[in-house]
Amino acid sequence: MRALSILRLRSVFDGRVIAPSDADYDEARTVFYGSFDRRPALIVRARNASDVSRAVSLARESGLELAVRSGGHSPAGHGVSEGGIVLDLSEMKALELDVERCTAWAETGLTAGEYTSATGAREVATGFGDAGSVGIGGITLAGGIGYLVRKYGLTIDNVLAAEIVTANGRLLRTDAETHPDLFWAIRGGGGNFGVVTRFRFRLHAVDTILGGMLMLPATPEIITSFVAAADAAPEELSTIANIMMAPPMPGLPTAARGTLVMMVRMVYSGDAQAGARAIAPFRALAEPFVDTVKPMHYAEMYAHDEGRHPLLALHAMFVGDLDRGMAQSIVERLPTSSARMAAVEIRVLGGAMARVSAGATAFAHRGARIALSVAAMYEHPSEAATHQSWVDDVAAILGRRESGVYVGFLRDEGEARIRKAYPEATWDRLVAIKNRYDPANLFHLNQNVRPHWQRSTRAADDAAA
Ligand SMILES: Cc1cc2nc3c(=O)[nH]c(=O)nc-3n(C[C@H](O)[C@H](O)[C@H](O)COP(=O)(O)OP(=O)(O)OC[C@H]3O[C@@H](n4cnc5c(N)ncnc54)[C@H](O)[C@@H]3O)c2cc1C
Repeated sequence: MRALSILRLRSVFDGRVIAPSDADYDEARTVFYGSFDRRPALIVRARNASDVSRAVSLARESGLELAVRSGGHSPAGHGVSEGGIVLDLSEMKALELDVERCTAWAETGLTAGEYTSATGAREVATGFGDAGSVGIGGITLAGGIGYLVRKYGLTIDNVLAAEIVTANGRLLRTDAETHPDLFWAIRGGGGNFGVVTRFRFRLHAVDTILGGMLMLPATPEIITSFVAAADAAPEELSTIANIMMAPPMPGLPTAARGTLVMMVRMVYSGDAQAGARAIAPFRALAEPFVDTVKPMHYAEMYAHDEGRHPLLALHAMFVGDLDRGMAQSIVERLPTSSARMAAVEIRVLGGAMARVSAGATAFAHRGARIALSVAAMYEHPSEAATHQSWVDDVAAILGRRESGVYVGFLRDEGEARIRKAYPEATWDRLVAIKNRYDPANLFHLNQNVRPHWQRSTRAADDAAA
């Protein structure tokens, strides 16, 4: 590896090159989750596609590990590398809206919240997830399950084209006709194939929605009835429910304090009266402790983002059902966590997401009925093992019918878990495309699909060991 001259690099890049001696180095190396205290050799804040290409070539030639960061929310901490190069896209935020043709070219430094505020001003939207601070780069490459998933599908179902710098440093345009294999792979295959500089998204007419949060008591009956109601709801309605001990919040009724509650965030995108009818069954599950569901601009759903740098223990999975026994376990186990906050999240899927065939994109779990996550947020790194062990115990109980996992919700859990995100046929196709576009596995700090030669080398190593 050649010694890197920061001065020389600064003259090469249009964007900033941040080194350990810079005053804002610590801030620049920090990612969303507080568990990752890594010190890269340098951080390149790319300003344009040429900078991205230069950074990719620099990583290839120097041998330094490359971390690619859009919004920095990877639960695996893949947005920062120890001793390597961080390619930070957060200053690439250009957005070109073509409202007449219902499309948008968006650079991948935008967050979901920034994109949605800008499109919301023109009464259109593309669906991302439930947090505005998540980067559109990472969420789109993973799939994108959010408030519009039942109505308009995953984020990737609304990707029309992309521009991507591949391992050789070249900028390629990809869509259904151009490099179709690459276009297939980047819709669910994560950052394995290159650095996407911008996506072309489909926009939908979404302005005033019926949205907000219902806080209900969490009993086994109410949890299972909620799942049935979310399943039966029209596709205009998508819900994300979190079961947890009632958090301290202004306006929390006394009756809710110290009890287990279900916080159901929901978006109905469609006619307001039909929306009120669709939400009625949820309001009828129990007298809500809190009900903030009302007409609002879609972008307001991103108004209250979570605090920064939590420490997180997590196990995510898809399950085919959530029966009475599972609901009972949730209610019994949640109060036993010693974490600052422990939760079981339930996303009932279906609708437009499920109508896309399993082979159409690298996200194959189209028939998954429920995305379920067990999570614990805690205060001190020394508690990590305790909380992950609690999470794993609860996940083992709930995951008896686990049918896979969403790659965007994986921590650093090893290849066996990555394989659960991709059924065999998808995996084989991803490996073949990886062989073609990144045979040296330059892009490996991700939920990695190793190219074929690395797999055989690894197998030989394993056999020799
Ligand atoms: C608070 C929170 C809420 C979330 N909610 C949802 C949700 O509702 N729905 C959902 O689907 N997911 C959700 N996620 C998961 C999220 O989509 C993934 O963690 C995603 O990878 C984060 O994207 P990012 O750009 O912010 O992260 P980063 O850490 O910047 O990127 C994650 C990885 O994606 C790759 N990557 C990112 N940008 C690029 C690019 N431009 N080109 C190539 N590779 C790139 C890299 O491998 C990188 O390591 C949530 C995560 C958090 C922390």
